[in-house]
Amino acid sequence: MRQPQSSEFQPSASQPSERLTVLHTGGTIASKPDASGALTPQEAPRVPGLPASVEVSNIQAFNLPSPHVTPRHMEALRVQIEQQAPRSSGIVVTHGTDTLEETAFYLHLTLATPVPVVLTGSMRHAEEPSWDGPGNLLDAASVALHPATRGRGPLVAFGGDLFDARTVTKVHSSAPDAFGGYPGPIGRIDHIGGTAALHYFARPELPLHSRPLFVPGGQPAHVEILYAYAGWQGEGYDQAAQRADGLVIAALGTGNLPAELLPLITQTCAQGKPVVIATRTHAGPVLPLYGYAGGGATLQRAGAIPASFLNAHKARLLLLVLLSMGLSQPEIEAVFADGHF
Ligand code: ASP
Repeated sequence: MRQPQSSEFQPSASQPSERLTVLHTGGTIASKPDASGALTPQEAPRVPGLPASVEVSNIQAFNLPSPHVTPRHMEALRVQIEQQAPRSSGIVVTHGTDTLEETAFYLHLTLATPVPVVLTGSMRHAEEPSWDGPGNLLDAASVALHPATRGRGPLVAFGGDLFDARTVTKVHSSAPDAFGGYPGPIGRIDHIGGTAALHYFARPELPLHSRPLFVPGGQPAHVEILYAYAGWQGEGYDQAAQRADGLVIAALGTGNLPAELLPLITQTCAQGKPVVIATRTHAGPVLPLYGYAGGGATLQRAGAIPASFLNAHKARLLLLVLLSMGLSQPEIEAVFADGHF
């Protein structure tokens, strides 16, 4: 993401255009408890508090807990967004928070429309006194309809903060302010006396859409993630490398691994299967700093691709999209290296 150059202040009165499309996909924001208190997605919520001049279309894209969402659902959602975009001033997507960042990043990579797309959800359900669904929905709708949002790519609105899809991540499993990520929000929305005050601090880095997008209807590539830990001797690696079209490893620090992994990764790369190295830390880049066996410099020399600032699950989606498009290993390496994703 570009560094904030100057703080942009937008007029405090939001100027909603006429047509808001809300695509619902399930999650806690649509969930109700059963007799035992366990939650399942049921009824899609409605955006509260919009002026009567805004025409709202609610569309149920699917109705799933977000751990059940797959790249196929993300692709189906992308198609629906592209279909709705010409008749929408702004689009809101409601989504379970557990994989919200993955769907947001998939859309960031593959959507071509300039129409604002804002994802949101809730951490508390509709029968709790502290339900955060209505506030997050109104925020997302106000942001999606605001003229200053156009051209920023898909955003996530949560707890009044606005995040870009590339860097946002879920940082807390239960708190209402569940989203964060390095380097932090790119904007903020508050409501003062019924008026939305929207401030942007930065513009997200957008992908280069000269690249072809994910092939609709195609079989998504199979990419697996392995998680590194002290004492890992490569357990599970061979099986994953055989099954998958590509691997992502959530490695240690700046992208280092135990020595046992170096020959395994060397072999996979030599077979033409990409291995992407991310970091299991919550922020920062992957760098070729260390020359001991398994150190970042040795992994990159063996052909492993550094994930830059992407976390492992976002690196997995980028690799999945690039492999699905049929890109070669050097082309994939070039995309990860140029940073325009
Ligand atoms: N805990 C999740 C949520 O907040 C459930 C899900 O992701 O579907 O929506």
